[in-house]
Amino acid sequence: METRQCNTCRVVKDLTSEFFPQEVNDRGYTYLRKKCVVCRLREDNIRRRSKPYIYRFIDEDNNIVYIGKTFQLTRRLPRHFNEKPMKWKQEFTGTIEVSLMNSEADMHIMEMYLINIHKPIYNDKDKSPSDLPTFSLQEPIFESHKEIKNGKW
Ligand SMILES: [Zn+2]
Repeated sequence: METRQCNTCRVVKDLTSEFFPQEVNDRGYTYLRKKCVVCRLREDNIRRRSKPYIYRFIDEDNNIVYIGKTFQLTRRLPRHFNEKPMKWKQEFTGTIEVSLMNSEADMHIMEMYLINIHKPIYNDKDKSPSDLPTFSLQEPIFESHKEIKNGKW
């Protein structure tokens, strides 16, 4: 029996649809997911309980330096500073602002849109090619969530 290691929990399980959910792609090709059923269900549950947020890091000079999205506001944001933070985060002083989106789709679209409009210096450049969007969206209203001094949460 062929086995596969789950991408998320790292447990090795039989490569069957019992353990790895079956998916059909755009071309009608069937494949087994890389994430096991247990992890998939756990993430679905978290997702159902969670809310879609956009957040942004504003530095002391009032520049938007980073834009992100999350379903887990209270868990995700401290993680920026507590788990092996990048150098700029260790030195970051400023405010984290958040905005609640109406749906998961809104969250994904708005994050991508805002990154392209503002081109924050610490966002992945792959997410903001040089061309700007050819349409405009109303920017959401952000509220202050946390003041950060020298990367200390
Ligand atoms: Zn798993």
